[in-house]
Amino acid sequence: MRPALIIIDMLNDFISGTLKTEEAISTVKPTKKAIDVFRRRKYPIFYVNDSHYNNDFEIPLWGPHAMKGTDGAKVYEEIKPEKDDFVLEKHAYSAFFQTPLDYLLRTNGIDTVFLAGLDADICVRHTAADAFFRGYKIYVIKDAVAARIDKNWEIYYKKVYNANIVYSEELEKII
Ligand SMILES: [Zn+2]
Repeated sequence: MRPALIIIDMLNDFISGTLKTEEAISTVKPTKKAIDVFRRRKYPIFYVNDSHYNNDFEIPLWGPHAMKGTDGAKVYEEIKPEKDDFVLEKHAYSAFFQTPLDYLLRTNGIDTVFLAGLDADICVRHTAADAFFRGYKIYVIKDAVAARIDKNWEIYYKKVYNANIVYSEELEKII
């Protein structure tokens, strides 16, 4: 296995700002734990962040959030990227949509993605779909994601994307 950690929308607006949910804050520590394991093993870490323009398709639906250049679009301080991490901007749910993520995963020899971030049933789920279409093996770090609408998201991931659902404390022995 050659894994990468993909951290999706762990931004101020999703954790403490306009689109925060009650559960979102609980994903910070497990995400930090995942980051620590990946750093120690020297596997790549990708932050893929909403960085919206006014005319992005989802803005009428959700209202302005994580607008490019604002504080709300910054990665939550406790888990912010370091020098060697990849930081990509996205404009729709999936971390693959119109971003260089697939190219960067392939040029780094990655065959397995570990997903963390917000929300399990929206951006993380669309990222899982795109990862599945592209042939990546998928792990979701359960305590490092939170769901907004579909709290019963796990069954869908398992049945549709053949995803493995794991806890952050298990990562040490999985990768
Ligand atoms: Zn968005």
